[in-house]
Amino acid sequence: MLRGRVSDSITYIIGAGVSGLSAAVCLVDKGADVRLYEAAPFAGGRCRSYVDGQLGCELDNGNHLLLGANKEALKLIKHLGVREKFFCPDSGVEFIDIEQGTRWNITPQTFLRSRQMIPDAHVQDYIHSLSLLFSSDHHTVGQRVADSGVLYRRLWNPLTVSLLNTPTMMASATYLRDIMLKLFFGGHKALRPYVPKISWADSLIHPAIEYVQKRGAEIHYNKLVNKIGLHHNRITLLRFADQEIKIREHDKVILAVNPSTAKKLLPDIDMPDQHNAIINVHFYAPKLAEKLREEEKYFWGIVGGDVEWFFVKDQVISSTTSAANEELLALPQEELAKRIWKNLQLSLDIELKIPPYRVLTEKRATFSCTPEMNKIRPDNRTSYQGLILAGDYTNTGLPATIEGAIISGKKAASLVVKG
Ligand SMILES: Cc1cc2nc3c(=O)[nH]c(=O)nc-3n(C[C@H](O)[C@H](O)[C@H](O)COP(=O)(O)OP(=O)(O)OC[C@H]3O[C@@H](n4cnc5c(N)ncnc54)[C@H](O)[C@@H]3O)c2cc1C
Repeated sequence: MLRGRVSDSITYIIGAGVSGLSAAVCLVDKGADVRLYEAAPFAGGRCRSYVDGQLGCELDNGNHLLLGANKEALKLIKHLGVREKFFCPDSGVEFIDIEQGTRWNITPQTFLRSRQMIPDAHVQDYIHSLSLLFSSDHHTVGQRVADSGVLYRRLWNPLTVSLLNTPTMMASATYLRDIMLKLFFGGHKALRPYVPKISWADSLIHPAIEYVQKRGAEIHYNKLVNKIGLHHNRITLLRFADQEIKIREHDKVILAVNPSTAKKLLPDIDMPDQHNAIINVHFYAPKLAEKLREEEKYFWGIVGGDVEWFFVKDQVISSTTSAANEELLALPQEELAKRIWKNLQLSLDIELKIPPYRVLTEKRATFSCTPEMNKIRPDNRTSYQGLILAGDYTNTGLPATIEGAIISGKKAASLVVKG
């Protein structure tokens, strides 16, 4: 995947999330001696899956959605040979405004090309939206398109919250604009969704682990780095509770942890320090899930409710609420699950009783993609010799996503190869 060769040194990768695994895949392809150290007893980081004892099935920590526009993610999927582990529906995405009872379908053919794409939107709403194209780095989406009427409610607001995990009034306008341009000019392929058939662990994380282990990488779990030794502008030491590793002159360390841990370990480097939450509620409903899959319904979007998406998985139907607000975060789980099940009932027009569920809340799901936070995203290269950063929060020009994490890991690996 990368040009160049890796010398005799060891590359230590701290963190086996998507960015750490992306770096590891690139480096083992170059024949590098790679050693991964992961704090948790499993890999995947924020993209992990686990078997839930209570529901008796595998759950994703987050309902991640990939699009064809995520070219680096698709390259990695192809490289690992796991394309068949994803559903890629071609029939567009159904949206339902559950407050107003309106339904519509966005397909690659109608995406921004037809005025009928969003029901009830007026010509003026589209004209108001054009200001997004002329945004500058300091603008928020809200400042640019809050006056776009129905389009704000049914397109810009749900898209911004889903793509940037940031409230629309605070989210970076240029980030949203750049994604929209990629989707618009990427054509049919760019809009194609990729949903794992079983889980993210099954589709991406386990195959990546298997790939790097087969090519000689070591993976050590339950290994939390609690200190990084720096001396004369060089990284010299990794400290764990039960071990210390001396970093030799030609060794490299890729720190592929989340931004708050990176900041604790490297307080001198600026990192985004504001985050937004994501709530996923997994409803155990295998029969309903099977029925929906038979209808080729794998996910659908919601407007005017407490969630943005519902996903159909193997045995569960799961909701995603991005940039979850304080009101939802403060609700007792039972009440929250009931509200979200009501959203599902309205969207499917069914009366089923609420099934067993699991609420998963990630308070720091991603850094807040605001103009202020984007300004302080660090580069992969640090001023310390031998120390390289990787992670969705580095300066990739993308919001915190699988695609961003993969790009960041790949850049970190290319810095190792360059020496
Ligand atoms: C609920 C949720 C939904 C999401 N939805 C989407 C989506 O739809 N589409 C999308 O593209 N992205 C989505 N994301 C974002 C995506 O998950 C992240 O951008 C990506 O997984 C980040 O990967 P990473 O490697 O940068 O960081 P992380 O996943 O945070 O990985 C860091 C790893 O480092 C380990 N670690 C931390 N500290 C230490 C230490 N001191 N020593 C050793 N190891 C350590 C952690 O255990 C972890 O495994 C979502 C995230 C969440 C939480």
